[in-house]
Amino acid sequence: MKDNIVALLNKQVNKEFYSAYLYLNFANFFMEKGLTGFANWYNVQAQEEREHAILLIKYLHNNGAKVVYEAIEKPYDCGDDSLKVLKCAYAHEKEITASINNIYGEAFEAKDYRTLQFLDWFVKEQGEEEAAADEVVKKMELFGSDAKGLYLLDQELGQRVYTAPAANIL
Ligand code: MG
Repeated sequence: MKDNIVALLNKQVNKEFYSAYLYLNFANFFMEKGLTGFANWYNVQAQEEREHAILLIKYLHNNGAKVVYEAIEKPYDCGDDSLKVLKCAYAHEKEITASINNIYGEAFEAKDYRTLQFLDWFVKEQGEEEAAADEVVKKMELFGSDAKGLYLLDQELGQRVYTAPAANIL
């Protein structure tokens, strides 16, 4: 693998761990508000992000590339409003999509077809991540201002369970 691709994949490892850290902090935010369903949703999301990092790490190892961990930044502050925090998550997912797309472009330029094939899963996954984050924002806008609506939405988000990605990605 070319050095620039290895560097970008390592950066992505950090971004995925940062995402997990950010979402764990969102879970804290919602726990403090008593919205345990929202907190559950973000705890599950954090597990997914950690898994994304692990997949990248495995891919680097499988290709004889060195894995280098950098410091994980302090999660940014999205304010004290639930809807703002949800919108923050959606904006963050769009940034991650742009980051994956950037690596994809670099891999294409480098004719690194194996990395392109590996990243295909991430491209698809980011589509799902954005849709899921957007869905929560929309539901919050529709039902969140009403106490009963918020209660039901919290119940719904509390149902989310973590499912590991299929084993055949790598
Ligand atoms: Mg991710």
